[in-house]
Amino acid sequence: MDELGLEDPPPREACGVFGVWAPGEDVAKLAYYGLYALQHRGQESAGIAVSDGSRIMVHKEMGLVAQVFDEPALTALRGHIAVGHCRYSTTGASVWANAQPTFRSTPTTSLALGHNGNLINTRELAALLGPAGQGSGGIAATSDTDVLTALFVSDRVQHSAAGDPSWAPAGVEAAAAVVLPLAKGAYSLVFMDEQTLYAARDPHGFRPLVLGRLKGGWVVASETAALDIVGAAFVREIAPGELVCINGRGVRSRTFAAPQPSGCLFEYVYLARPDTTISGQGVHATRVAVGRRLAAEHPADADLVIPVPESGTPAAIGFAEASGIPFGQGLVKNPYVGRTFIQPSQTIRERGIKLKLNPLRDAIAGRRLVVVDDSIVRGNTQRALVAMLREAGAAEVHVRVASPPVTWPCFYGIDFATRAELIAGRLSPTEICASIGADSLGYVSLEGLTEASGLPASRLCRACFDGQYPVPVAADDRGKHLLDGLSVGS
Ligand code: SF4
Repeated sequence: MDELGLEDPPPREACGVFGVWAPGEDVAKLAYYGLYALQHRGQESAGIAVSDGSRIMVHKEMGLVAQVFDEPALTALRGHIAVGHCRYSTTGASVWANAQPTFRSTPTTSLALGHNGNLINTRELAALLGPAGQGSGGIAATSDTDVLTALFVSDRVQHSAAGDPSWAPAGVEAAAAVVLPLAKGAYSLVFMDEQTLYAARDPHGFRPLVLGRLKGGWVVASETAALDIVGAAFVREIAPGELVCINGRGVRSRTFAAPQPSGCLFEYVYLARPDTTISGQGVHATRVAVGRRLAAEHPADADLVIPVPESGTPAAIGFAEASGIPFGQGLVKNPYVGRTFIQPSQTIRERGIKLKLNPLRDAIAGRRLVVVDDSIVRGNTQRALVAMLREAGAAEVHVRVASPPVTWPCFYGIDFATRAELIAGRLSPTEICASIGADSLGYVSLEGLTEASGLPASRLCRACFDGQYPVPVAADDRGKHLLDGLSVGS
């Protein structure tokens, strides 16, 4: 169920992160606009932490970025370093306590941290803290993100980082260099102590993270689109296995683990903004190329190509271009659906898909349609969509999908569903076509999608399509949303 109680939520991205180091700038407002640009990556909670060099202040709340912050809240956050976060919970634990940035304070240091991704060995890491989060503020950690935050300020870990327990704490950077190689799974992190902004990306680089230059400062963000919006110039991607530290002494970088790049292929399909660039290639252009490929692999005899807005639009453009079938709008989307916290009444819930999409009857009636969608997860949306289009008078409905069948769950930060809930985990494409009531159904091939990304398969994670997990997940855990029994996902 999504926020409206509808039964087939789209894949949920598990967070956007943003960090800025910029003396003399209003860093809270820069973080606000950065998060505003990343709102699509997480719409359940938002938060910003700011440091003035000696003290960190955090403001976080449930809701959209624009609901969480107003002018007085941002004005109160004074300083020259900020980290921001917007979140989806991947476990349903959508509560304030899990909003980020997480914050931990000890007598020697404080830390605020934002995480995009999912760890798969949280229990193992939590054990490093000792009983009840010893040496990390004394509070037991409750999520994968909180465990990392606690470890980075833990006296135990900092002592071991220094190699001598009697030595003075070695600091967050040394602790991070010890802890990060031990963390398994997906993490793009932006964090700060009182004086330094840090950014780190797991050795596989599952989730994106980029570095940008501001006049007089630096920015790190989940997507290049967030750099554009705050006026920062793209410098480079944070490399898989890299830890970057930014403070008054400049930008330093260290490699904490050998890179084994496996960037998320699904970022190209749905997750990233179309105006974002990944590995030098625009996401919009990639999606258009996938649409062209789809037309070549699964042609259709039809009168009109329509997208399922908005994420199906670029692929529909590509399909129309390659097939010569005219492109048009056939569905109108309410852009605000899914962004309310008001529970729908039963009468409203029964309206189902019409809360999200409404057909343009004049455009559809009597036409043979190609309907292009970005992906099929459970299949409920497409079933309702096909029925709605037929009801609106469509003569034929040919569904084309700009990704291969999603057959496996994601353990690296995206909440699709369990394998049992994934329609392609149970049914063949022919059976899915019958199940959703379409005249024909075609998915782009995994090779086609991979080629369109411009990256070789060896540098991508494609696990939700082929079950090949770059970081192995125990067979017993593959049917679960929740790993380790701890709240995960950020
Ligand atoms: S399993 Fe799929 S969604 Fe998850 S990181 Fe890999 S490609 Fe992305």
